[in-house]
Amino acid sequence: MSQSIEHLFANNKTWSERMHSEDPEFFTRLVNQQSPEYLWIGCSDSRVPANQVIGLAPGEVFVHRNIANVVVHTDLNALSVIHYAVEILRVKHILIVGHYGCGGVKAAMNDNKTGLTDNWLRHIQDVRDRHIDRLERFTEPSERADRLCELNAMHQVVNVCQTSVLREAWQRGQGVTVHGWCYSLQDGLVRDLGVSSRTREEAVERYRDAVERIG
Ligand SMILES: [Zn+2]
Repeated sequence: MSQSIEHLFANNKTWSERMHSEDPEFFTRLVNQQSPEYLWIGCSDSRVPANQVIGLAPGEVFVHRNIANVVVHTDLNALSVIHYAVEILRVKHILIVGHYGCGGVKAAMNDNKTGLTDNWLRHIQDVRDRHIDRLERFTEPSERADRLCELNAMHQVVNVCQTSVLREAWQRGQGVTVHGWCYSLQDGLVRDLGVSSRTREEAVERYRDAVERIG
């Protein structure tokens, strides 16, 4: 077992040396504090690495990832990350980043049975069922799944805006904007879904408009 991961230590050593030679103060600066301006909430998918996609170095983006970038009000893990990011780190932007071709969304769309994960994907099926008439207008299965990727990311924006953390932050006048994006594995580009919001009301309104634009 130890042999099969030996190259990771070698990679790590090379990386550490490169970072140090490019910027001798890099690690010393990060030891003292992190002050990221962004919270990234994305999918666990290995093809969607937060820092690389938006070209940011360690220390510049606070990250939470789970299967299909879902934020539900009973998930203490996600809520704690949002709380820490907003109240302690004072991030200015929260990016909810779905991605086209998401396996979790496809499984949810098609009712595939995966075991334990089905319970988690149920949240996405709630989004699917809510918009089933609209989704059924798309006959191509991959296109239908991609629209659900967008709807899911947009829906999670509303969920984040409805958390007590964001509501309290906005009440005390803290400027934090919540955005919904969808990333394409095909060309590495993010698409803004047009639901950026700075209040709960704005999130609900922009979500409604964005759903109409889906087709
Ligand atoms: Zn995914």
